[in-house]
Parts: sequence; C-alpha cells; structure tokens
Amino acid sequence: MISLDLLLILAVFWIIVTWSLLNKIRLRKMLSRARGLWALDLAGLMIHGAVVPLFQSLIIFGALKLIWPIGEGLLTLPRWISFFVAFVVVDYAYYWNHRLLHQKKLWRFHAVHHSGQVFDVFTTSRNSALTTFLILYVWFNGIMFFLLSNREAYIWGVAVSNALDLLRHSGIAKWPRFAPFTWFISPRDHAWHHSEDMSDVNFGGNLNIWDRIHGTYHGSENLPHQIGAPLGQNLWSAFWHGIPSGENQ
Ligand SMILES: [Zn+2]
Ligand SMILES: [Zn+2]
Repeated sequence: MISLDLLLILAVFWIIVTWSLLNKIRLRKMLSRARGLWALDLAGLMIHGAVVPLFQSLIIFGALKLIWPIGEGLLTLPRWISFFVAFVVVDYAYYWNHRLLHQKKLWRFHAVHHSGQVFDVFTTSRNSALTTFLILYVWFNGIMFFLLSNREAYIWGVAVSNALDLLRHSGIAKWPRFAPFTWFISPRDHAWHHSEDMSDVNFGGNLNIWDRIHGTYHGSENLPHQIGAPLGQNLWSAFWHGIPSGENQ
C-alpha cells in the first residue's frame, strides 16, 4: 500500500514533469540531454527513491536491530519535535555537510551534481552512487527510523524535504514573495548554487536561514546565465564514484 508521504513526493514529481511537458522550450531543454545523461539522472532518481530507503530499512535498521535490539523504538518524541528534527535540525546539519562537499578534497564527489546544464526535476538526484553515502541524512534518518517509537511525523519531515528538493531543481523561475515561501531556498536561489561562476552560495536544503546566518545567501531577481559545468567523457566513473580531480573544477 502506498503511504500518504510517498504519494506527496510522487505527486510533486509528476506535477513538475507535466508542467515541464506543457512548455515547448522547457520540453526541448529536457529532451536535449544525451542518452548517457538520461541514464545517469534516472539511475540517480532510482538510487534516491529506492536504494536509499532500502539501505535505511534493511541495512541500517537490520544492523542496529542485531547489535542493539532493545534500542528499537526506544525514543519517544512529541510529533512536532520529530518533524522539527527531520525538517530543521537535519537541514542545518546538511548545510555544513554540503559546504564540506564543496571543499577541494571532496569536490570530485559532488561535482557530478553540479554538472547538469539542464535544470529540471530529473537533475535532482544526479550524483555518483558513492556520493549518496557521503550525505549525512541518509545515515541519520535510518538511525532515527530505528530509534523512534512513532515514526510518522519524522517520515513526514523527510517527505516534505524530498518534495522541496524536487521543487528546488524544477527550474520554476517565479516563487511567491511572502512568508512562509520567503523562508525557503527557492528554485532560483538553488539555480545560483548551480551557476558556473557563483556556486559557493545558497548551500541550504529547505530553509535559507542557515545561509543568511553564515553569510552565504545570495538572493537575486534574475536567473544565472549559465548553469552547470559539463561532465567529461567518463560517465561510468561519474556514476560510480565521481569525477577524477581536475576534470571538472
Ligand atoms: Zn553543491
Ligand atoms: Zn542541486
């Protein structure tokens, strides 16, 4: 049975895809991807949508249950705190996790995500397979699913974060200018993060407050001229472990 949180993510995904199909320019851009890049992006979506949940529920959950059986369901939190942890606390940790991935030594793993020159919903999960496991919340969410006695509110926090991730990569240029929308990283803010000349801004996932506090926020009325730096020829390496140093700096 499909749960409501999964339905939310699927609905947001298909609404954005339909919206893209209805506009000739957006559709042409979307279809302009080379076949190898389609494979990379669809594989990324499969990893994010199926492999990660399986990894969390089978490997992390299973391993913890084996080593620490009494830990399962040990943590009881009020629903709003569970949601807050998944949506706000994890978001702040992700902000630093993301900044670290922009450091010289780790950039090769993250560069694949910044290689999309077409900014649409299919580039949301463009990542090398290995990089997926360098993202803190993949592990943390698995541990929380194990520890919480009532997981529903936490899962909603994760689902809304995933829906916003899809929106951020949708290429939607207009974003409401009133609260609470102004609290979030908009698709335009994230487009600047993917821009060729100014990627050290807007590291946040859900909320823009972390970028505002740490001086990395860049708000603009315009979209950047150029998005993404193209991948080299080695898509196989890009898919598994990232881009060799120097190939995409
Ligand atoms: Zn980045
Ligand atoms: Zn992105």
